[in-house]
Amino acid sequence: MRFDLVPMPLAVQDRPRDERGYPVPAITPWEDGQPQFALTDYGRSAECARERLCSVCDALMPRGPVWRVVGASESAAIGEALAAGRPYRNLAPTLEGPGHRACMLYASMVCPYLARPNARRGLGAEQPDELTEHVVRGAVRGALGAVVGFGDYEFAVTGTKVMFRFFDVVEYLPHDNADAHLAELRAELARNGRGPAQPAG
Ligand SMILES: [Zn+2]
Repeated sequence: MRFDLVPMPLAVQDRPRDERGYPVPAITPWEDGQPQFALTDYGRSAECARERLCSVCDALMPRGPVWRVVGASESAAIGEALAAGRPYRNLAPTLEGPGHRACMLYASMVCPYLARPNARRGLGAEQPDELTEHVVRGAVRGALGAVVGFGDYEFAVTGTKVMFRFFDVVEYLPHDNADAHLAELRAELARNGRGPAQPAG
């Protein structure tokens, strides 16, 4: 979806923009004045992890659940676990950090690397995997991804990367097309006064 058609959480409005006006996530590296949307910056990611900052807007995440946008295979695994009434376990660590609910709903619709699962970080179309197979086969309802709330997470900062692991699914919003989250985002912003604000001072 065109990013200017999606209501922007307040804290995201404070982000630096690229030349199109597109807000640049907190964990996105810059090179020669250009944001590298397909990449994750190690230092920024480590800072977000250590200080509990949202990977989209860079503001503090309050105690409690955190949210992520997940791709097809993880969405399917979570959906199956929930349907079977068992907790979602054995998560492979991911390089993608958590964020506010509003920020992740927003990012699911406007970030090309999140909104289009076959364009997710590090996955080339020339190397089909489970994710792109889903796309090729055509979508089963909700198969393309989800915005997911987790009760808790842990992280590890190694010499070269920052890895996250998430536990206790508290909300599962699957989608075929992330535009489906527009109403949810509007409701979230209405509830929380345009979403997370930068902390005072
Ligand atoms: Zn945020």
